Amino acid sequence: MILPSERFRSIGWKAKINNESCNACKLCISKCPVNAISIIDGHIVIDEQTCLGCGFCAANCKQLAIKLSLQTPLKGKVQDYFIDGGLSVDI
Ligand code: SF4
Ligand code: SF4
Repeated sequence: MILPSERFRSIGWKAKINNESCNACKLCISKCPVNAISIIDGHIVIDEQTCLGCGFCAANCKQLAIKLSLQTPLKGKVQDYFIDGGLSVDI
């Protein structure tokens, strides 16, 4: 099985954690579809390489401790966001 993180390149958005607002409830960890979030020494850590920028974590954080930020540069064409150049992905 091919994981979404292996087939889909980020559209340029990445989740960023604000540890001052986070209460380490761990809800976001269970919501991430690609397991990009972990907790280390009581602090939430987001693996930027794995993060798809889907926003599920931020949408479920009651503390509003996660924001999505746009990473640049954006890719030139839609096909560039997919590893194989195709547009049909099962995610
Ligand atoms: S859901 Fe929000 S408050 Fe809970 S661990 Fe994740 S970032 Fe922290
Ligand atoms: S934006 Fe999506 S992929 Fe990235 S850490 Fe949050 S839930 Fe995971």
